Amino acid sequence: MLNLLPMEELIKLKSELERTKTELGILYEISNAMRTTLNLDEILYIILTGVTAHIGLGFNRALLFLINQKDGLIEGKMGIGPETGEEANRIWSQIEGENMDMEDLISAYKFSNNGRNGFEGGFNKQVQHIKISLRDKSENLLNLVAQEGMPLHLTKETIINYKNTPILQLLKSDELVLIPLKAKDKINGIIVADNFITKEPIIKDDLRMLTMLANQAGLAIENSQLYEKTVMLAQMDALTELWNHGYFQYLLLSELEKSRANQAPLSLILIDIDHFKVYNDTLGHQAGDKILKSLASLLKDQSRKMDLVCRYGGEEFAIILPQTDKKETLLIAERLREDIEKYAFAHEDILPDKRLTASLGISSFPEDGLLPAELISASDKAMYRAKNKGRNTTCY
Ligand code: GH3
Ligand code: MG
Ligand code: MG
Repeated sequence: MLNLLPMEELIKLKSELERTKTELGILYEISNAMRTTLNLDEILYIILTGVTAHIGLGFNRALLFLINQKDGLIEGKMGIGPETGEEANRIWSQIEGENMDMEDLISAYKFSNNGRNGFEGGFNKQVQHIKISLRDKSENLLNLVAQEGMPLHLTKETIINYKNTPILQLLKSDELVLIPLKAKDKINGIIVADNFITKEPIIKDDLRMLTMLANQAGLAIENSQLYEKTVMLAQMDALTELWNHGYFQYLLLSELEKSRANQAPLSLILIDIDHFKVYNDTLGHQAGDKILKSLASLLKDQSRKMDLVCRYGGEEFAIILPQTDKKETLLIAERLREDIEKYAFAHEDILPDKRLTASLGISSFPEDGLLPAELISASDKAMYRAKNKGRNTTCY
C-alpha cells in the first residue's frame, strides 16, 4: 500500500529541494569561475565575490587570509565589503540596477585591473596590512582556526571573548564566521565573513554553503600557487637564483618597450669576472660555482629594488636599469665594481691580482641603440674595452 505524506511535509520537502537546487547552482557557478584562471588575485576575488554577492552566498563582508608557512605568518590578502550602510546601498543597487551576474562581477574586476570599482578601497587596504605571526598569542582567533582547521561560528554571546584580537578590532562585528581553506591535509587560508550592515543572523545553511565553497577554494588556491611557483622556477637560474638568460631577454625587450612609450632612458650593465678560468683550474668548478653564488647575492643586495639582476651566461651577469641614464648608471656600476673588489671571496688570493675583480660594460637607450640586440652588443664591446684596459674597470 502506498504511504502518502501529509501536505505540509510535501511542501517542506519541495522547498528544501528548491533551496538545494539554488545552492548547487551557486556553488557550480563559483567553482566554474575558479577554473577560468590560474591568477591568484583573480581566484581570491572570485571566492570573495561568491561569498558576498547577493546572487552568491550573500554575506555583507568577506576577508581572505593566506597562511604563509615559510615565514610563519597569516597574511591578509583581500577584503570585500562596504564600510558603511550608505556605501552598501550604493554598491548593491548598482549591481541590481545593472542586473549583474557572477560572471559580470568577475569580468568587471579583471577589466578594472585589480578593481578600482566599488568593492575595493579602504577596507581592502586595511585587510592587506594584516600580518599575524602563527605564534602570536594575542590573535587567538585566526590562529585557532589555522591550527585546529575547524570552522568557527561566533555568536553575540561568544564573540565577547575575542573582542581584543586585532581582527575583531578591525571588523567590530557582533557575529562572525571563520572557515579554514584546505588543500589535501594542509590548511592554506581562512575566510572570515559577517553581516555587519544588515545584522542578519548567520544560520546553519550559510555555514554549510561556506564550508562547501571553502573546500573548492582551498584547492583552487593551491593550484594557482603551484602554477606561479612553476613559472617562477622556469624563469630562474638554478645556481644563482637570478633571472636566467631567457627571462633576461624577455625583460630587456619589455622594459625597452616601456622606455620607448614613456620616452624614458634605460641602461644595461654587463659584468664579467676577471681571470675566472684560473680560479676554476686551480680550485675546481665546484669552488667556482660557490663564487658565482656569492657574487650573485652581492649584486642583488647592492643594486636597487627596481633593477633587474640576471645571469647572462657562464660567469657573466647582466643588470637592466629602468629609467636610468648613462651618467647615473656609471655611478652605480662603479660602486658595484668597488663592492666586488672589496668583498672577501673564498681563496681569492690564488688569482693573479690576489683578489677577485670584474670588468663592466655599460650601454644606454636611446643613444647606444634602440633594440635589445644593439644594447647587448654595445655593453659587450664596452666590457671588452674594460678587459683591454687591464680589467677591474668600468667602460661605456
Ligand atoms: P677574463 O678576465 O678575460 O674574463 O678571463 P676569464 O678566465 O674569466 O675568461 P672568460 O671570461 O672567457 O671565462 C670563462 C671561464 O669561466 C671558463 C670557465 O672556467 C668559467 N665558467 C663559465 N661558466 C661557469 C660556471 O657555470 N661555473 C664555473 N665554476 N665556471 C664557469
Ligand atoms: Mg666570460
Ligand atoms: Mg671572465
